[in-house]
Amino acid sequence: MSAPSSLPQTAPFLAVAGIEVHYGQAILAVRDVSLTVEEGQVVALLGANGAGKSTTLKAISNLLGPERGAVSRGTITWRGEAVSRLSPSALVGKGVVQVLEGRHCFQQLTVEENLLSGAFLRRPGRRQLAEDIERIYAWFPRLKLKRRTKAGLTSGGEQQMTAIGRALMTRPRLMLLDEPSMGLAPIVVQEIFEIIRTLNRDSGVSFLIAEQNANLALKYADVGYVLETGRVAMSGPAAELASRGDVKAFYLGEASPK
Ligand code: ATP
Repeated sequence: MSAPSSLPQTAPFLAVAGIEVHYGQAILAVRDVSLTVEEGQVVALLGANGAGKSTTLKAISNLLGPERGAVSRGTITWRGEAVSRLSPSALVGKGVVQVLEGRHCFQQLTVEENLLSGAFLRRPGRRQLAEDIERIYAWFPRLKLKRRTKAGLTSGGEQQMTAIGRALMTRPRLMLLDEPSMGLAPIVVQEIFEIIRTLNRDSGVSFLIAEQNANLALKYADVGYVLETGRVAMSGPAAELASRGDVKAFYLGEASPK
């Protein structure tokens, strides 16, 4: 039996409502973006180069400051709490972590040292830390093989896995992933998306994934949003978006926009 509609609805996990983002005084990068991520969902944020995907993710994790960016309108809430004044690290403490575009790793540290750095905020005990590392290796067996190799000497796919693994060490509830497929061979990208699916199913981590590769992202997502010059142009269940002719034509590479 479904719950009576008069019961209070629980707030969505993440709610972005009508945000506008500027860089400096002049550049309007995001004009009007609203989206939600419900607990347990994988949500794809799609759009061409420059559509505003990275800016939206950085607005959520409060990473715009160093680029002189700021949210000038709208609200962002995490489990009902406004997060615009939280530092990125406070947000990580609340369960929201971002993996930046370009698979940032500490190149001179080993894969394992990179992973360990992800636990810094939580300061777990030695046993807990060892258990957490083993959990990451269970998801990414390739990283176990490379645990003593400097991250800078591993492949692009392994660096992306290291960046995701390090973020997982914060024990997030929501992970924001910026272009995980960028510059990687299709087979490696597939492997990474399969791991994301497993993580989502087995440990309940929700994902908001910015991707230019709409075809791929919609295969793994529950819901998708398509951005066009800083606005949400379309949104809906991933399967529906993937089957729509206009999305296919403009975003799945079957024709070029006029
Ligand atoms: P990409 O896949 O290329 O990263 P994107 O959809 O993530 O594209 P954004 O990087 O968010 O798009 O860029 C949105 C707009 O904001 C673009 O016009 C871009 O040139 C501009 N922009 C992004 N970062 C900055 C910045 N640090 N300073 C000024 N303008 C920026």
